[in-house]
Amino acid sequence: MGPPSEYPTVIIGGGLGGLCCGAYLAKQGIPVTLEEQHSVPGGYATCFERAGGKFRFGVSLHGTSINNNAGARILGEIGVLEKLELVELPELYRLKTPRLVLSVPPKDPETYIRLLAGHFPAEAEGIRGFVREMIGIAEEADRLHQKKGRFFKLIFPIQYRRMWNVRHQTLADLMNDYVQDPELQNLLTALWSYYGLPPSRLSAFYYAVATGGYLKNGSHYIKQRSQDLSDALVEAIENNGGKVWYDSPVQKILVRSGAVEGVALSDGTTLPATAVVSNASALTTFQEMLPREVVPGEYLKKLAGYRPSISTFIVWLGLNRSLRGQISACSTYVSSGRGPEADYQASLSGDIGQGSFGVSIYDNMFEGYSRPGTSTLMLVFLSGYEPWRKFESDYHAGRKEEYRKEKARWTDVLIRRAAEEVVPGLETMIAVQEAATPLTNRRCTGNTEGAIYGFE
Ligand SMILES: Cc1cc2nc3c(=O)[nH]c(=O)nc-3n(C[C@H](O)[C@H](O)[C@H](O)COP(=O)(O)OP(=O)(O)OC[C@H]3O[C@@H](n4cnc5c(N)ncnc54)[C@H](O)[C@@H]3O)c2cc1C
Repeated sequence: MGPPSEYPTVIIGGGLGGLCCGAYLAKQGIPVTLEEQHSVPGGYATCFERAGGKFRFGVSLHGTSINNNAGARILGEIGVLEKLELVELPELYRLKTPRLVLSVPPKDPETYIRLLAGHFPAEAEGIRGFVREMIGIAEEADRLHQKKGRFFKLIFPIQYRRMWNVRHQTLADLMNDYVQDPELQNLLTALWSYYGLPPSRLSAFYYAVATGGYLKNGSHYIKQRSQDLSDALVEAIENNGGKVWYDSPVQKILVRSGAVEGVALSDGTTLPATAVVSNASALTTFQEMLPREVVPGEYLKKLAGYRPSISTFIVWLGLNRSLRGQISACSTYVSSGRGPEADYQASLSGDIGQGSFGVSIYDNMFEGYSRPGTSTLMLVFLSGYEPWRKFESDYHAGRKEEYRKEKARWTDVLIRRAAEEVVPGLETMIAVQEAATPLTNRRCTGNTEGAIYGFE
């Protein structure tokens, strides 16, 4: 192997994945060029302005697990963590069901257990067991990360007993081991929407790693916006000699004699590289960017068997009134009370009037988020792609009249429901509103079907 400088590498896409990878490689002296199709870095971790800059809306990352864990260590290693201003959220999340409102405290699993046990005394022991199990799994995963993922196969089941035991379990399986009351089960799996699958289909391991981490280490907001994380990552790449290009979509990965030799951009230019890393949709990368004949058929078959994750319908609102101190929640999840399985089906079919949704009031995350006398909100409904697929070809051809009508209908329903459940009188306070559908997600990030979590 020659020195790192002999391995020019192109990274396709400047989402958090591509940016982190670029920062690691640039730090090692590898000449990195990152090609981003959009005009700003960050993928979903970006922000945008409306009303001449009066409102700055964040697209994602309203609550991130970025303390005392793998994410924090990664950002520390590439010199980005110290550049971020993190705000610890006073509440992990608030869950509102037709029967109760539950405020989940950060870094205080005991209080969380007591709160739930107060509602379900007969299941107190099971609640404690389940919460401990999730935190235990998160701790084991963290320990493995600290050992750089190295382990001895033979003793893995003993060293990482909890991870081993849940390896084939769904979240529903794991929960059934501990608690039985369906309403309690719904409360304990309330964060299913963070993963986009209902408990019957969601990996117990993934749910436990993040949820256990949140319960133990809290949840953080990146001040001022998640765009600051993306910008700091770009700086880390550039400070180590890397380059980041915008408005620069990659069309093809060039291969000669079985080895990568560069990429072709959509304007026809080519860029030589000895390695290419793609942060673009895996389906697009392997089915469209690479020549078919170089991707093993078995791998293509495997990919075709995966489903893109669920997408989102989002409404951003700029209010002409300050909500800080009036309503205390940062992020409220409104559940229909029919359970995650029914809410997931409502999301897939686009039943915006019935499914669960989230309301984030950013001004409760830190003072000064919005300009004085105003507030910034985001309403999120997980959405399947199917309800929007019928608009796809017209949308791309610029015929958006029917699409806009449907988008306006969904927006109205979501605002009405947020007003009924979380912010009374919301309709009367709106100065600015914007909405994004799965088709918007697809256009802005290139993700297949506007997926927000890669594959299911
Ligand atoms: C509404 C919402 C809320 C969220 N909230 C949270 C949260 O609170 N906490 C949390 O931890 N996570 C949250 N997430 C998830 C998190 O934002 C994503 O997991 C993460 O940002 C994904 O990063 P990524 O790099 O994998 O992909 P992406 O962000 O999709 O990045 C892919 C990048 O590749 C670029 N690209 C694609 N094709 C090409 C091409 N051909 N050429 C050049 N560039 C290309 C795209 O433009 C994009 O920049 C949320 C997501 C959403 C949508």
